[in-house]
Amino acid sequence: SWALWSLLCRQRVFATAMRLLLRCLRLGRRRRCTLVRQAEQLWRYGHLCLRSLLYNSFTNGDVVLDSLFEPVYWLVDHVTRWFGVVFVALVIGLTSSVVAIVYICLLPLILQTYTPAWICWHLAYGHWNLIMIVFHYYMAITTSPGHPPQAKDDLTGVSICRKCIAPKPARTHHCSICNRCVLKMDHHCPWLNNCVGHYNHRYFFSFCLFMTMGCIYCSISGWEMFRDAYAAIEVSYSLGNSPLILFQTYYQTPPPTFSFRQRAFHKSVVYVWVLCSSVALALGALTLWHAALITRGETSIERHINKKERQRLQKKGKLFRNPYSYGSWDNWKVFLGVDVPRHWLTRVLLPSPHLPHGTGLSWDLPPCVAKQRTPLLSI
Ligand SMILES: [Zn+2]
Ligand SMILES: [Zn+2]
Repeated sequence: SWALWSLLCRQRVFATAMRLLLRCLRLGRRRRCTLVRQAEQLWRYGHLCLRSLLYNSFTNGDVVLDSLFEPVYWLVDHVTRWFGVVFVALVIGLTSSVVAIVYICLLPLILQTYTPAWICWHLAYGHWNLIMIVFHYYMAITTSPGHPPQAKDDLTGVSICRKCIAPKPARTHHCSICNRCVLKMDHHCPWLNNCVGHYNHRYFFSFCLFMTMGCIYCSISGWEMFRDAYAAIEVSYSLGNSPLILFQTYYQTPPPTFSFRQRAFHKSVVYVWVLCSSVALALGALTLWHAALITRGETSIERHINKKERQRLQKKGKLFRNPYSYGSWDNWKVFLGVDVPRHWLTRVLLPSPHLPHGTGLSWDLPPCVAKQRTPLLSI
């Protein structure tokens, strides 16, 4: 009976052990199930969080690229803000150096060798062009391009600026370098260290135009002097480097020797000509581009927007019409502020601080255009 009892005991112990083992296994499975479920929940929550943070119905390739390039933009903005001062100093320094060389080196030569008629032309044209450049550059850097008013009630904006959290009138754009919204923004110009907008667009364009004209004038009228000076520099260099000079005899013609003053004169002439002709090419291209934009009644920013809009409407078979264009000729008159024919002289060919049409907040038809349009519309 002892053997039977011990067998029963062992069986009970075995059964209990098995039951314990089974319970453990079941518990483990349950725990594993909860762990998996929790991880799954966490993953779903994280995924939803990420999607809700990043999701945007306007997301496309451009937005993704913009986001990736955000640090680059930030760097460029900061560098441009700092470089603005350097660029303005560069413009003033280079222009002053050219003017100084013309006055010190070239003007005495012109007065000595040219006929009175040519002397009058050079004196009159040169000074008029210089005054126009200085006036328009000064006005372009000191005139504010115009910003939307801070009081939000007196403004019916067409959109909201994401950065300023303020209404944005038509044609207004946010400048990330100035960190402000700019009325009828064209672009931020590092050479002016200022934004080009509603109130200084004309000054900017006139400066580009007169600077290009001045550079072309210097390049054309200085061409012969440049050729002679360049030849003289070449001769003195080739003589200086040539070994022949060591074996020179009395019977050879002596090489032309230039004094320090003459060499400085030659180098100055070459410097002025090279600088003026390269600026004339680069700035001339920019001026032509802006002239084309003004003819179309667009700003540089609107050019991109209108191009996209034109393509979008073209796909639908519709025609895009720029609401701020009044026709090529009228666009120029509105841009330059020419209301009556005499303004071509007083407002375009002479320095004039007149304000542009409108406030830059709303875009009604300018009076000079409206006057001409009324009879056409009534027909
Ligand atoms: Zn803004
Ligand atoms: Zn700006």
